[in-house]
Formats: sequence, C-alpha cells, structure tokens
Amino acid sequence: MLERTLVLVKPDGVQRSLTGEIISRFEKAGLKIVGMKMAWADRKFAEEHYSAHKGKAFYKSLVGFLTEGPVVAMVLEGLHAVDVVRKLTGATEPRTAAPGTIRGDYAHHSYEYTDKKGIPIKNLIHASGDRKDAEKEIKLWFTLKEMHSYKSVHDVHVL
Ligand code: ATP
Ligand code: MG
Repeated sequence: MLERTLVLVKPDGVQRSLTGEIISRFEKAGLKIVGMKMAWADRKFAEEHYSAHKGKAFYKSLVGFLTEGPVVAMVLEGLHAVDVVRKLTGATEPRTAAPGTIRGDYAHHSYEYTDKKGIPIKNLIHASGDRKDAEKEIKLWFTLKEMHSYKSVHDVHVL
C-alpha cells in the first residue's frame, strides 16, 4: 500500500510562483517528500517523459511546454500515493477540474481554447498516472542517492 509517485510543478506553476502552494497541498494531506529538485528538461528528456503521448496532435507543443522553463520535481510517498496525488491534482482540464483540487483552484485553461490556439493545456502539475508509470518516471527523474528515507510525524502517529 505504501507507494511512491512523481510530481512535477510544470513551468507555468513555477513561473506563477505557485510552487509553495502546490507542495503544501501534498504536505497537508500527509504525503512525505522523499526527493525534490529544480530541473530544466531539454527536448530529448521531455520527449522521454511524455513518450506515451508520441503521435498525438498536442505532443510537440507539450514537449515545448515542459522545456520552456525549469520544473520542480518531487517524489512523494504515502499510502496509495499514486491515486491520492491524482485526486488532489484534479482532472487534466482546469476548466472542468473540481474545486478543491490544485488544477481546479489555481487554473482555468480549457480544451476549447487550447484546440483553437494549437497549444497544450497549462495545468500546473504532472502527476504519475499509475504505479507502473510512477516507477518509470521516478527512475527517469531521480537517482537512488537523490531519494531519502526518514521518519515523519505520520509514521509515528498515523501509520
Ligand atoms: P500529466 O500527465 O501532465 O499529469 P494528465 O495525466 O492529467 O497530465 P495526460 O493525458 O497524461 O493528462 O496529458 C499530458 C499533458 O498533455 C496534460 O497534462 C496536458 O498538459 C496536455 N494535454 C493532454 N490532453 C490534451 C489536449 N487534448 N489538448 C491539449 N493538451 C493536452
Ligand atoms: Mg498523464
């Protein structure tokens, strides 16, 4: 049940100074930060990260979006962390993402707008879609030495 998942505060989130807000949402839910860094992905690295979307209409601009500035990458650990992080993140399209979720509360981009403009949806965060993706993405972004095991208050009082 104890899982690890990858979260990126995408360039739009960093540029809008929402990094702290976003990290604090996950911290408040009790998820443990076990790895964190700022990184600026180049094209090749971004293509690898979003390789599952290769061939889709928005793929090229999505790679451009991820490389337009630095991201804050983190590995979060907790019970059912993959699902819990996706729940807190909200639906892909900010316009319809539920209030209370990060994408619903801090963005409002729509498919209708991005389709017209031929740009990707700017939705602040990437969060691994499932456990298999999480494993692959953590390996891509972090070395073992960059991740840390330690006791949090949750380990003492909740788990
Ligand atoms: P992420 O993988 O970034 O966490 P997600 O899992 O909610 O997002 P995916 O379907 O994996 O959504 O799409 C990856 C990213 O591609 C989205 O976060 C968004 O930035 C962009 N994107 C997805 N679908 C579209 C679309 N139809 N039009 C424009 N951009 C899109
Ligand atoms: Mg995805």
